[in-house]
Amino acid sequence: MILRPPELSHRAIALKPSLTLEISAKAKALQAEGRDICSLSAGEPDFNTPGFIVEAAREALSQGITRYGPAAGDPELRAALADKLIHENDIATKPEQVLICNGGKQAIYNLFQVVLNPGDEVLLPSPYWLSYPEMAALAGASTVLIPSSASDGFRLDLDALEARITPKSRLLVINSPGNPTGRVMQRQELEALAELVARHPNLLVMSDEIYEYLLAEGEQHISFASISEAIKDRCFTVNGFAKGWAMTGWRLGYLAGNATVIKAASALQSQSTSNVCSFAQKGALAAIRGSRECVEEMACSYNLRRNFLIEGLQSIPGITLIPPKGAFYAFPQLPERITDSMEFCRRALEDEGLAVVPGVAFGDDRCIRLSCAVSHESITNGLERLQRMLSKF
Ligand code: PLP
Repeated sequence: MILRPPELSHRAIALKPSLTLEISAKAKALQAEGRDICSLSAGEPDFNTPGFIVEAAREALSQGITRYGPAAGDPELRAALADKLIHENDIATKPEQVLICNGGKQAIYNLFQVVLNPGDEVLLPSPYWLSYPEMAALAGASTVLIPSSASDGFRLDLDALEARITPKSRLLVINSPGNPTGRVMQRQELEALAELVARHPNLLVMSDEIYEYLLAEGEQHISFASISEAIKDRCFTVNGFAKGWAMTGWRLGYLAGNATVIKAASALQSQSTSNVCSFAQKGALAAIRGSRECVEEMACSYNLRRNFLIEGLQSIPGITLIPPKGAFYAFPQLPERITDSMEFCRRALEDEGLAVVPGVAFGDDRCIRLSCAVSHESITNGLERLQRMLSKF
């Protein structure tokens, strides 16, 4: 009997696996074979979760908080996050306007599923975080890119954005501080963007603020939903605990915005994944209610290492770098002769044991992404390998 493999759905066939996870996995496999690998590819903090958060989850476990909870999240956590959005982000929010999700990723996925229809267009400033277009496709929508590059400082060109708005445009995505560029949008720019959005009443905006606490000295995070009362009801805020509190594995994020949309996203969650792990939510509650000192300490440490990475990259001839002002990445543009970032990264890993992520994954084939959430030694070592690779490519 010939066994035929099961046929996959069109959605599954169209889906691209995450290139960042793929590179990290390949680097780990080479390391397991005994190769000397220097990885600057990771997209996660190199700290352990602060002790008081772990302790709160442990305590919840020992108190038997191990059962199903409300699909939309622990009411105490929803209320605490509404409070945080009011006081830290200047966004008037009620607890029923907050949905607790399995990471920022599920918050984005849920939003896309409940506001996008097949044929809709998602407007996405490029370079972009690589999961947005895939999630748009999973909702049947297509992605329309608003290009920018290192030569224009990765600025969002509002004229280019407006020129791409059609009757099918449904959702604009912004991400500040941004992955991969580390760009932080300034108040004036956000105000001008809000005016543009006000002119297009069918357009929704999703602001991904997952790196909100990771800011270079002197930078300020401004939530888009706080900018204008006129469009506030069309703005959705995505955030989470992964980056600020070093809680990537806990899978805790949230979506905030219009109550009807949140209710629909909660219904979707109730029919798919149900509540986020109940005792993990108690850890998040401790985090949100606790002092931000631990977050500030980690942010400070990334700042030192980001500056170190920036200095190192700026000293390499042929590299163009727009210094990142937030998150923990740098996104340098390679010399003009290098036009295939995938090939460059594949050879960097094979020849020099250097794992970095090709810019093509983020919509810019001229760049590569390096993480500074590693030790100073790894940054020095990685930059030496990069320089060697550049000299022979
Ligand atoms: N948004 C951006 C811009 C990210 O870089 C990431 C993770 O890398 C996420 C969202 C998702 O984070 P989480 O781990 O909370 O799902």
